[in-house]
Formats: sequence, C-alpha cells, structure tokens
Amino acid sequence: YVIWIGDKESGQVVVVLYDLALIRAAEQMQLDFVSNVSHELKTPITSIAGFAETLLGGAKDDPKALDQFLHIILQEADRLNDLVTDTISVAKFANPHPIHPQSVTVRKEIDHCLTMLKPRIEERSLQTRIEGPEDLTVVFDPAEFEDIIKNLLTNAVIYNHHQGSIDVRYSSDQDNFKLVVADTGIGIPEDDQQRIFERFYRVDKMRSRRNGGTGLGLAIVQAIVQRAGGEITLHSQVGVGSSFTVTLPLKKQNA
Ligand code: ADP
Repeated sequence: YVIWIGDKESGQVVVVLYDLALIRAAEQMQLDFVSNVSHELKTPITSIAGFAETLLGGAKDDPKALDQFLHIILQEADRLNDLVTDTISVAKFANPHPIHPQSVTVRKEIDHCLTMLKPRIEERSLQTRIEGPEDLTVVFDPAEFEDIIKNLLTNAVIYNHHQGSIDVRYSSDQDNFKLVVADTGIGIPEDDQQRIFERFYRVDKMRSRRNGGTGLGLAIVQAIVQRAGGEITLHSQVGVGSSFTVTLPLKKQNA
C-alpha cells in the first residue's frame, strides 16, 4: 500500500508505505484478544449465575450450602475483578500512554509486594530471600514498577512447590537496572517458554485459574519492560524451577 503526495512547486514528494500484512496481523490480534477476554469473562459469570439460581431454587434453606455457595460467588466476583483490571492494564500498557516517572526505592517495592503475598507464602511454607542494595532507587513509573515485581513474585509463589524458595536479586550498573526473580517451582517446558508472554497463554489452565491467575501477568510485564526499552528473559527447567531476569535502561535521576 503506497501513497504518493507530490508538490509541483517545490518538486518534493512524500511517500508513505504501509505493510498491509502487518496491519492485518495487528487487527487479527485485537480480534483474538477481544474474543479471549469475552471467553474468560464468561466462565465466572456463568458460575455466579449458576450458584445464585441454585440458591434461589431452594438451596438457600440449607445453611451449609448457603454459606458455601455465597463464598464461591464472592470468589468468582473477585476473579471477574482481576480479569477486568488485568485486561485494562494489558490494553493500556500495549499502547502509548502517559507515564509518571519518580524515584522508586526498589527494596520498598519488593517488601510491599511480599507483604501482599504473605498469606500465600505462608500457606505454602515458602522461604524468601532478597539480595540487593537497601537504598537503591530507580526512576520509573511507580505503578508500572510495582506491576513488574508483583506479577513475577506472584508467579514465583503460585507455581512453586510446598516448602520451596524464592530468590529476588537486584543490582544496577552505570546503564542498567537488573532484577532476577528465581523460584524452585514446577518449571516451564521448553516448548512453552516463548509463548508464556502471550496474552492468555498458560501451560496449565486449571492450575493458573485455581490460583487466581488471569493469564495476563507476563503479557503486562513484557509490555511495560519493552516500552521502557528493556528486556525480559527466562531460564527454566521442568521440576527444578524458573528464573526471570528483567533489565531496564537507567534514566539518570537528574536527566
Ligand atoms: P497466569 O495468570 O496464568 O499466571 P501469566 O501471564 O503470569 O499468567 O503466566 C503465564 C503462564 O506461564 C502461567 O499460566 C504458567 O503456566 C507459566 N508461568 C509463569 N510464571 C511461572 C513460574 N514462575 N513457574 C512456572 N510457570 C510459570
């Protein structure tokens, strides 16, 4: 697809080239995304409607069933909430949007995310270790920085074995900030390692859903990291564990 715009007076010509295949692929990706989101939203909605109907059909008279079904309805509503929040994030982060870089203390963000995950860490008796300078700061959008750490740590928790461990290491040099989140969990088969960054791609759908996963966490992390000009890499071995490394170019604080 080529557009020519000529200007007789100056003799100058502007040529605009479009790659239609690229545009079509992007359109198809949008359509797939919408269809995936609709499909994912339907599961909790069906469940909420089903349990409410069962209650109205008479189950509400049994106090045990009433309690159990109401809890399921609440859980499914939480799931809907997570799906909507992550869907908005993934759409936002994949497109140009305003960011608000500030000085962020790395250790504080990691501690904050670990505190939020504490119940699940304790439930699985996981050991956590953090290694890195206590006072290291980076200039980054705080909400986006939290999203990177929260999603990687959440995965390190939910795909870990009972009594496993999580190591978080971070450092910086002149040019880059580097963060490693390593776990001793179930690992990721080689064939899936490229695909887990795709929206809604999961190695084990059931396990992801059971643990509250939306299938969007790594897509969000990758979008944030790439927009910042960084990269995310993965080393993983089934049954041994996974290690995600994020590298972000450092903006000088006084730049
Ligand atoms: P989810 O909400 O399903 O965790 P993510 O985008 O965060 O979605 O991850 C995509 C998939 O990658 C997960 O469903 C899981 O199969 C796999 N995965 C991600 N992190 C890990 C990990 N630390 N260990 C094992 N598998 C992982």
